[in-house]
Amino acid sequence: MSNFEGVVPALAQALEKRGYAELTPVQKAVLELGQSDALVSAQTGSGKTVAFGLAMAPTLLDGAERFSGAAAPLALAVAPTRELALQVTRELEWLYELTGATVASCVGGMDMRTERRALERGAHIVVGTPGRLRDHITRNSLDMSALKAVVLDEADEMLDLGFREDLEFILDAAPTDRRTLMFSATVPRSIATLAQGYQRDAVRISAAGEEKQHLDIEYRALSVAQADRENAIINVLRYYEAKNALVFCNTRAAVNHLTARFNNRNFSVVALSGELSQNERSHALQAMRDGRAKVCIATDVAARGIDLPNLELVIHADLPTNPETLLHRSGRTGRAGRKGVSALIVPNSARRRTERLLQSAKLTATWASPPSADDVMRRDDERILADPAFDEPVKEDERAFIDALLSRHGAEQVAAAFVRQCRSSRSAPEDLMDVAPFTPSRDSQAGEKFARRDEAPSRRDDFGASVWFSLSVGRRQNAEPRWLIPMLCRAGGISKREIGAIKMQPEETFVQIAADWADRFLAAIGPDRKLQGNIAVKRLEGTPDLSRAGYQPPTPDKKPHRGKAPFDPSAPKRKFEKRAPASADQRPAAAHEAKPWAKKPGKPKFENAGAPKHKTKKRPS
Ligand code: ADP
Ligand code: MG
Repeated sequence: MSNFEGVVPALAQALEKRGYAELTPVQKAVLELGQSDALVSAQTGSGKTVAFGLAMAPTLLDGAERFSGAAAPLALAVAPTRELALQVTRELEWLYELTGATVASCVGGMDMRTERRALERGAHIVVGTPGRLRDHITRNSLDMSALKAVVLDEADEMLDLGFREDLEFILDAAPTDRRTLMFSATVPRSIATLAQGYQRDAVRISAAGEEKQHLDIEYRALSVAQADRENAIINVLRYYEAKNALVFCNTRAAVNHLTARFNNRNFSVVALSGELSQNERSHALQAMRDGRAKVCIATDVAARGIDLPNLELVIHADLPTNPETLLHRSGRTGRAGRKGVSALIVPNSARRRTERLLQSAKLTATWASPPSADDVMRRDDERILADPAFDEPVKEDERAFIDALLSRHGAEQVAAAFVRQCRSSRSAPEDLMDVAPFTPSRDSQAGEKFARRDEAPSRRDDFGASVWFSLSVGRRQNAEPRWLIPMLCRAGGISKREIGAIKMQPEETFVQIAADWADRFLAAIGPDRKLQGNIAVKRLEGTPDLSRAGYQPPTPDKKPHRGKAPFDPSAPKRKFEKRAPASADQRPAAAHEAKPWAKKPGKPKFENAGAPKHKTKKRPS
């Protein structure tokens, strides 16, 4: 048990039973806390849930081996979404199993009365979402008086989602002598302020090696023609055939669209977005965990913090809008020492933006074409050849029929029938258009200059499903996005995020609004469809005809077409490599060095350690 020194015995046993070989750095760090408050930041996938489970144990058990009967809760953990709260509940349940702890959850979308009854029966630890916890406190069904510890999990996300007031309410309702532990992937100023107001002499832990996880993720930026984005996703899914894959979209409408499309293509998909009921969301995740579904299509908020142990592939159907989102999405895979692929689907017009995105996330990606139909078929054949079914010896009761089959049809025909059957059970890959491969320029300044010219005409090409509107002002009326955008947001009840491209014409302006906001936008403007200054708003069918209005389409990529880049991830590749190669101390020689706590040490993870495909530099904190 020496690996878990310093851990309360009952929890150390649970870790052992769970098969954990060692603690992660953040878990080790919290053991030093004693009874102090703490503000802890560590990358997603670094094991923060178990970390706060360990951190609060000495306080809750107070020297005892086991808990006595459950009464008013001793600990409260707050998480941003229902799924996360339930995930945390499950995690604490096994971790605290041998202590006899009762863990209750209070999450939006569940029956409040059931939760109230559970709380009345008594619980040692309560896990919940901010709004629901606040409800229980207000209705006196959650007794806060005995709390010894309050944990805020994914604190940054909770503030982003607008839960500040709820959190302050909850913290204000807790006894002042409680411990307050805050866990967050990032620590923006808003978190620091919250910590200052509600913690006492908090220890700041920024887990060493917090970026290491991303070494287990291979980033691939796949250049596609705009019209081929969905086909490319289909081929990527088919190529990897991941046990679990997560496809990220920027809007709920895009999630619905892709879900329908992939369902039709025989993929076992589920959707995860805010508009589903709690039940539907739980079912979706359960289907992913037990293998009934392989592909989950999700929005960022819905998938935040979700831990799917078999997640091998993350696809960015819509590009993330900032580096943090890129890291977060990708961090769903490559967890706990396992390998993962994070594939960015990059329409031509967004290449430079993607390059900058990767750069600001301090990531190196391999640029390539998406797998072609041929690549997919080749992989299929390799999978058939390596199928473990061929290793099973012939059973006695099968022998007679096998002989009959072979003598009737011959080995070749039997094999042909088998191959056809295998192939027909899979969804056919798509033929993709050739695009000129992208070679990120080594001269970043030239790259930047080119980027602006390259990208300006179609700023939000990857905006997702949208509806176009026309406004009755144009360049001649001095229309400018600078004042148009705030006006549209105010009058239409939307935020900047829901506005895509703005195309200015001499007497008219076309504005692209996210599809699932279009109706609300119109309703908010009112029946006269007029904005401030008598500007008329008109909903358009389809995309505005810009050629008629003197619009210059983006100049086609003039770079010479160098033929299709091979997809094969092991083939020599054009690398996006602006920085000097990693120095020896940054370069992991083997997985167990990079992640000393990985379950199976010893097996080298980098076949090509001399030239790592991807590397991560520590971000300045
Ligand atoms: P975070 O909250 O930091 O994003 P999680 O707490 O969700 O990360 O943990 C990520 C995954 O790592 C989970 O599947 C968890 O069970 C696993 N894990 C946590 N600690 C360890 C450990 N010490 N050894 C192996 N796996 C671990
Ligand atoms: Mg977490």
